[in-house]
Amino acid sequence: MSNTERSKMAVNLDKVFCSNCDEKMPALRIPENIQQLMWGGWTCPKCDCKMDKFGKEIVEQINI
Ligand SMILES: [Zn+2]
Repeated sequence: MSNTERSKMAVNLDKVFCSNCDEKMPALRIPENIQQLMWGGWTCPKCDCKMDKFGKEIVEQINI
């Protein structure tokens, strides 16, 4: 396994900023829903957009 592949699997410990308003997400997160509990991520306290653990905005899926 290459280092690149390994880093993809690592937990993201970098500071994450909201992709929408650049608000810094708290390092210690409290999951708001099952999705965040399972996959990580935040809901921005400032603009209320959702993002995954890498700070990528999540577009809500209709089909569950
Ligand atoms: Zn935001």
